[in-house]
Amino acid sequence: MPSTTLTDMQEWLSQQEVKVHGNYINGEWKESTSGNTFSICNSAQRDQVLGFFQDSNEEDVNEAVEAAAEAFQGWSQVPGPDRGAVLYRFADLLEENATELAYILSAEQGKALTEAKGEVMRAAKEARFGAGEAFRIEGNTLPGERSNVWSSTIRKPLGVVAAIAPWNFPVVTPVRKIAPALAYGCTVVYKPASVTPWTSVVLMELLAKAGVPNGVVNLVVGSGSRVGNPLVKHPLVKGISFTGSSSLGKNINEIAAGRLAKTQLELGGKNPAVVLDYKDAENVAKQIVSAAFACSGQRCTSISRVIVTKENKAELTEALVKEMKNAKVGPAWEEGVTVGPLINEQHLDSVREYLEIASAEGARVVYGGETLSEGAYGQGAYIVPALLDQVTPEMRVAKEEIFGPVLVVLEVEDKEEALRVANNVEYGLAASIFTNDLTTAYQFADRVETGMVHVNHGTASAAHMPFGGVKQSGAGAFSIGKSNVEFFTELKSVYFQY
Ligand code: NAP
Ligand code: MG
Repeated sequence: MPSTTLTDMQEWLSQQEVKVHGNYINGEWKESTSGNTFSICNSAQRDQVLGFFQDSNEEDVNEAVEAAAEAFQGWSQVPGPDRGAVLYRFADLLEENATELAYILSAEQGKALTEAKGEVMRAAKEARFGAGEAFRIEGNTLPGERSNVWSSTIRKPLGVVAAIAPWNFPVVTPVRKIAPALAYGCTVVYKPASVTPWTSVVLMELLAKAGVPNGVVNLVVGSGSRVGNPLVKHPLVKGISFTGSSSLGKNINEIAAGRLAKTQLELGGKNPAVVLDYKDAENVAKQIVSAAFACSGQRCTSISRVIVTKENKAELTEALVKEMKNAKVGPAWEEGVTVGPLINEQHLDSVREYLEIASAEGARVVYGGETLSEGAYGQGAYIVPALLDQVTPEMRVAKEEIFGPVLVVLEVEDKEEALRVANNVEYGLAASIFTNDLTTAYQFADRVETGMVHVNHGTASAAHMPFGGVKQSGAGAFSIGKSNVEFFTELKSVYFQY
């Protein structure tokens, strides 16, 4: 059971005044014209209110989009290196404020404090990559068809971009959208997930401090229907960078297509770890368990399926259970905690429903799956990470995204069947393969139907590598790496005659 001793994080939180936070529009903190606010509470201490936020509406969205459109006139003309300089300062500020930002992130989202700190540091890295890209917005120059002509392609910033994010990575996801947008000369209206708006307020403060001009980045907090939907529909919004569920992503894509607005969609996943051969089962288990249960399994790139050959199954399952027993479930601030609460009770209910479906379909719980509600656990939505076996590829738990700490084991005969099972889902985000055979590794990397593939390690991405999915896991340009240029800019072909 978690101890109730106050730590630095809880002490810091208890010293904060519970504030009403505004929207950030055109460089000003403003109340919504709705006149309404809503509160959020600490996900591991439900009786602790963290703050009040604007329950915004279409009028607020319109004001923010118009401010962003006006600011675009100036920002798009700022030389790339100067835009990059602002982002370098922003990255430094993220690092300087990492401790407090991590406290806020852990409080609203629930993830372990070490993970929250890691997320802030990762956001700084990605912001720096974006800053550097502002110096390198390249085009091509080709010879002309006639001797006194040459021809060039240049890239122009897209315009006002809507950024819409989910609740699982409330620091790195917005930074992943805002930093490249600014680097390439776009302006932004950002809508965070309703359950995690506090970190976004801090991000706006740091962006302003870094020297981002008024109107270049705007924050509008509120529901998907009253803020997200009008934002997606606004004619001045030229592109929508959305991270969230596949079903919502498809709706947004349809609306955007109606006016030829661009989309960058990062959606769900059902990511496999294919285990064919190894020297050390313990090491493989370590990597799978950490990639499966980071952020309590609420990651789009979480490993949620282990596909293992018959001959290795017993040994690997045992190693997985051993590793899972090392997980410590508890509140973010407690020493040694690796698995925080789920985002809320409603989400816990949906994870529990999947466990019931699994047992009805004939799967067996090998480890975990218990809901924890005794004592201090009653202050959050806690569940012990679960491992299921006797799972077949047709079962719902083998196909659908659970978005929680549930890992299923699927047994296969050989590497051909492993690949078939790996590809036998609608999603195509990330995959891992564990093998010492070079040919098999290359074959798998080539033939697995995912946007990202990791050989001999878990599904953890780097801060400069293109990030995205195929099939129902994404559409549009990959984010993070150089590929962002495809989304945030438009091409122009220029012919010079002299
Ligand atoms: P979600 O329900 O799809 O919501 C994502 C965002 O869209 C939230 O800000 C939400 O606002 C907003 N929204 C809701 N309705 C909208 C509408 N009609 N128009 C425009 N925006 C609307 O996703 P979630 O539950 O927050 O997150 C879990 C999902 O995200 C999972 O499927 C996960 O796989 C996916 N995800 C994908 C990636 C990736 O990079 N591929 C990364 C992380 C998460 P409210 O909060 O107000 O509802
Ligand atoms: Mg949702």
